[in-house]
Parts: sequence; structure tokens; C-alpha cells
Amino acid sequence: MVDLGPDDWELAMADERHSRLAEFIEPFRVRPGSKVRLDRDFDPAFRAGVKKRDATALLRQGIEHLAEYQARLAAQDTYGVLVVLQALDAAGKDGTIRHVMSGVNPQGVSVHSFKVPSAEELDHDYLWRYAKRLPTRGEIGIFNRSHYEEVLVVRVHPENLERQKLPQASKRGDIWKRRYREINDWERYLTDNGLRLVKLFLNVSKEEQRTRLLRRLDLPDHTWKFSVADVRERERWDDYQEAISDMLSHTSTEWAPWYVIPADRKWFARVGAAAVLGHALMEIDPRFPTVGAEQRAVLDAVKAALEAQAPEGAAADPFESRHGHVAPGTPAEHGSGKEERAHGDGAAPDASR
Ligand code: AMP
Ligand code: MG
Repeated sequence: MVDLGPDDWELAMADERHSRLAEFIEPFRVRPGSKVRLDRDFDPAFRAGVKKRDATALLRQGIEHLAEYQARLAAQDTYGVLVVLQALDAAGKDGTIRHVMSGVNPQGVSVHSFKVPSAEELDHDYLWRYAKRLPTRGEIGIFNRSHYEEVLVVRVHPENLERQKLPQASKRGDIWKRRYREINDWERYLTDNGLRLVKLFLNVSKEEQRTRLLRRLDLPDHTWKFSVADVRERERWDDYQEAISDMLSHTSTEWAPWYVIPADRKWFARVGAAAVLGHALMEIDPRFPTVGAEQRAVLDAVKAALEAQAPEGAAADPFESRHGHVAPGTPAEHGSGKEERAHGDGAAPDASR
């Protein structure tokens, strides 16, 4: 029999979870360098064998997992995560953010929605406004629409490009190919400096979009979300499909790959998005900082001073007297592990679930 301690068990669980997540999200990943077409290569109704009745439990697990890793990411304060969320109208961007991030500490998350650029924004280079909103180290930032609008809506409606006041020379040649390269270079720079990008395209079908737009019209509480502009954009469906396919083909890179999440079933899109983000966090593998020997000595001296201040009749360390002695320092210093194993025998697997 393998002698498995509680730490080993957690690591094994993490390893297994990591490989299961990797396997689950692989069909969504756009292989860097491949030429994809949205309508041919990705099915908006795909559900990877997941049953709807299991979705709630799966999402709950996914959310718990995110919360745990987000806490570690914040504590470590070394890496940041940028979730780039792109989709056509009514594909479920807002709902995905609301559901997937629901268990995460709001202090560690920033969300920013990008609309039609302002006059000030148009007076800068096109990546300026996105660079300004990047998450800090330790933070998960979400872009609800993103710099990718610069090769989507701006491409489908060239009047947007006119408003960008570019010099003539910057408009020569294949401007979209150039923007793909610039975006790839920018993302590479960010990655090299500690930002992990998680790029999600929520893929909804034309018929499901129609249903959802009608739902917004039919339900009074949802009508505020309806915009006549959405219907006009829908008329350009084929142009968008082409621009999106081209974008996916050119900007899915080793350092920042795209994931196309099937979005005709909202419950599946949420599980899929949580899985891709959860997997990225596991790859970062953020750890709570541990205290070195020198710092420990300082802290022990402070502890002794606080204990000496105990009033008459009070325990020197009320916390310790209530909860028992907690071994300080790194997990490796937690005793020999022998007693823990004796306690943990049989109970450990359940406890760590
Ligand atoms: P919504 O996300 O529904 O609130 O709508 C925001 C609108 O802003 C959408 O119609 C986008 O197409 C538009 N938008 C976002 N980014 C840009 C951009 N860079 N240039 C022009 N329009 C944009
Ligand atoms: Mg809209």
C-alpha cells in the first residue's frame, strides 16, 4: 500500500484535477498556428458529455477552486491574471462573469467593460485604454470586451478606424495583420512580465442569439438589455464570423491561446469558462508566502512580548490555548508527518474534499 500523507493527498488531488481540467478544455483550445473557421470547427451546442443536472454541482466546485486559488494568487502578489471575454451580443458575457466569479473575494477582482471609445481614448494609440485597465499583480482582471474589438467591430465597421485619426502611413498595407502582430507582441510582453492571459470566446449560434434577443423583448425585466444596435450587428453576422475566425487563427499563441467556449447552453458556458480559468490558475500554482528563519525569530520575539502582556488569570496565548499549538513555518516543518498520518488515515481523503 502506498503511504500517503495529507500533503501528498492534496498534491495528488491537485495533479489529478489539473490533468482532468486540461483534458476537459483541450477541445476548446485554438491550436497556435492553426487556421480555424468558427462555423466549421466549433459547435456552439457542444457539451462534452456533461449533463445539465450535474452542471450546478460542477460549477460550485469550480467556483470553490477559483476562490482558493485567487486567495493564493493575491497572497503571493507575483502574477496577475487577465481574463479576456469576447462574444457576439447575447452570448452570455455578463452572466458568465456574474456566475463564475460569484465566490471570489471582490477585493482581488477587477472588471472592466469597453464601449465605444471616448474622444480622449481616440487621441491615443489603440491599445492605450486597455493597458490602463490591466490588473495588478495578485489580481484577476476581467475585460468584458477587450483590445480584440480593435480587429472585430473596427474591422466590420471601418468608420471606427476613420475615427482613430491614424496617420496615412499607418493605414497602408494589411492593417489587420499588423494589428494581430502588435497584439501578439503586447500579450507576449505582458506574459513575460507576470501577467497570465485567459482568452475566452463565447460561441453562440445565430438561432440561439435570435431566441435570446426575443427573450429580452418578451420579458419586461430584461428589455433594458435589448438594444436596436444588437439587431443591426446581427445583420453583419457573416462578416463577424469571418473577422472572428481570422482573429482566432492569428492571435492564438503559445503564450496566450484562445479558447472557444460553446455558449448555446448557458450552464455549459459557465462550467467551461470556470474550467479554463481554473486550469490557468493551477498552471501558475501560486503559493502562500512562507516565513524564513530570520523573520520567524523576529515573530517569536514579538509573540513572547504579547504573551507577557497577559492580564492576571488570562491565558498567555488565548488562541493557542483554545486551538492547540500550531506549528509555524513552512509545511515541511509540520512535525514528522507520522502522527498526522495516523490521524489522517482514512479520514484524510474526505477531509480534503
Ligand atoms: P455593450 O457591450 O453591449 O455594452 O456594447 C458596447 C458597444 O461598444 C458594442 O457595440 C461594441 O461594439 C462597442 N465597442 C467596443 N469597443 C469598441 C471599439 N474599440 N471601437 C468601436 N466600438 C467599440
Ligand atoms: Mg449590447
